[in-house]
This record gives sequence, structure tokens and C-alpha cells, in this order.
Amino acid sequence: MSGRTHARACPERTCLGCRERAAKRDLLRIVVIEGECAPDPRGTLPGRGAYVHPASVCLDLAVRRRAFPRAFRVQGPLETADLRRFVEQRTL
Ligand SMILES: [Zn+2]
Repeated sequence: MSGRTHARACPERTCLGCRERAAKRDLLRIVVIEGECAPDPRGTLPGRGAYVHPASVCLDLAVRRRAFPRAFRVQGPLETADLRRFVEQRTL
């Protein structure tokens, strides 16, 4: 992996679910608010952000591999019900 040919103008992030890199604008930013994963579709909320495709398959993968607590460096499970609802509404 040389990675030198990437255009710098298009920021990329890794999806926590499928682990594929994608343009930041194609991913959903997630932040933690009081122990819950919250969607941040506008990317404006403060704090550490994690990125996932706005698709329930990727969300499921991320939850199953406990990627969210690891990404946010917190102990234990994080509530993802609101996030799941948000993603499911978007993917209808
Ligand atoms: Zn993904």
C-alpha cells in the first residue's frame, strides 16, 4: 500500500463496520452523548467522532465487533438504538 496517489482534496475516513475507506461525506459521523451513540449528519457536534456508512449492515457489523467503545475509548457497551433508528430511516 503506497497511498501516495490519494487526492488530498477529498478527506477519507474508515467505516467502523465494513472497514472500507470512503469519502467523509459518504459516511455518517457518530459522536457519543451521555453513553449513547448519536448520529451527527452535519458533522458539527463537538468531541471525538467515528464514521460508519449510513447503512444497517455496517452499523450491525460495527456493533458486533464492539467498534464503537473502541473508537470512542470508553468502557463497556454504548447504546445504539437512536443511531439504528436514524440509519434505518435513511435507508428506507
Ligand atoms: Zn461500511
